[in-house]
Amino acid sequence: MTDSAPTLPAQPTILHVDMDAFYVSVEIKKDPTLAGRPVIVGGTGNRGVVASCSYEARAFGIHSAMPTARARRLCPQAVFLPGHFDDYQEASSAIHRIFLSFTPLVEGIALDEAFLDVSGARRLFGTGPEVAARIRQDVRQTVGIECSVGVARTKLMAKLASKEAKPRPSPSGPQPGPGVFVVLPEEELGFLHPKPVRALWGVGPATAARLTRMGISTVGDLARAPLESLVGSLGQAAGRHLHELAWGRDPRRVEPSRPTKSIGHEETYAKDHYRAETLAVEVIRMADAVAGRLRHASLEARTVTLKVRFGDFSTITRSRTETAGFSTAQVISRIALALLEEVDVSAGVRLLGVSASGLADAGAEQLSLDDLTGPGSDDAGWKAATGAIDDIRRRFGDRAVGPAALAGADGVRVKRIGDTQWGPGT
Ligand SMILES: [Mg+2]
Repeated sequence: MTDSAPTLPAQPTILHVDMDAFYVSVEIKKDPTLAGRPVIVGGTGNRGVVASCSYEARAFGIHSAMPTARARRLCPQAVFLPGHFDDYQEASSAIHRIFLSFTPLVEGIALDEAFLDVSGARRLFGTGPEVAARIRQDVRQTVGIECSVGVARTKLMAKLASKEAKPRPSPSGPQPGPGVFVVLPEEELGFLHPKPVRALWGVGPATAARLTRMGISTVGDLARAPLESLVGSLGQAAGRHLHELAWGRDPRRVEPSRPTKSIGHEETYAKDHYRAETLAVEVIRMADAVAGRLRHASLEARTVTLKVRFGDFSTITRSRTETAGFSTAQVISRIALALLEEVDVSAGVRLLGVSASGLADAGAEQLSLDDLTGPGSDDAGWKAATGAIDDIRRRFGDRAVGPAALAGADGVRVKRIGDTQWGPGT
């Protein structure tokens, strides 16, 4: 057996677990009076978007990523809530602990979504479908929310299967789904081929349009199309890749230790910002948040990237890489502010983002931090100081400490993980 022809497991042992309406479910757990109502979590301002909506809201045609303003028109009686990211983070950690109690092979895809390879769990916990049922039970008991699980031999099939397991919205109320949906090896192509090509990973609107022009609308059409014509239209790599997927061949393994590539924050503003001073304060705020997350993950970065989207949606990114790793707000904001200085913001800034990449374990970077002649040298003293700040934040909350530029009458505004990623609240 060669690498190019990997063996598939004989049994469905890949799980795709996905929480149902995650943010909304966490909100309902906190306030059970919301149950059974159309509930929408997201940006509540006029540029906000829907991040999560209950199945009752979906019956009105509302879906995530829809502008909140549109959702309000479709369902004015819905309950609109801003996000509470600390709560989602906490629920996510609890969920991932449950996953890890069944197998170390957990690949987190999002806060509420992961692939699990449970092939080694059989003796202790049973077959793939049995583990799936136990996970649903544990998540319900421990976290108090519902999830859906797809079980199959490949990631592709498992991901499609979890969709089938979901509840469905209907005008008379949500129809419960099966919760666990298993695709047996002999059922794979029968399950896959009727689906639209858009169901496949990597088929975006442009590829779908090209395929449509070739008379290909379902995955089955794609499977039966001659490989040469796919390659001719989509190129070698994409043509071959989609042909393989269309036959259910997906050799990707569950990668438990997939490292985080970057940590960042970005924010869309209710009104475009024209003043460099205002944006500088925003950069410092975001740098502080990015630094907190880096240290929380015991990571150091080497690159800072500033992203600026203007009022006309044109977007630029500017990066700088240092030779020594860093993790403090002081260094990240210094670099990001230098990058900002080089940008002409007079056209008006709609979105601003700061991210850190080139990540490595903080422990591995100790030597370069001690090298006081390196570009990251001023980081060393700050590292000790900010460790203390993290301690204070843990004990007294985020608003207790922050850079002086952020201190206002109402304490310190500190960005938290994922804050307002779906648009401003006001
Ligand atoms: Mg989900």
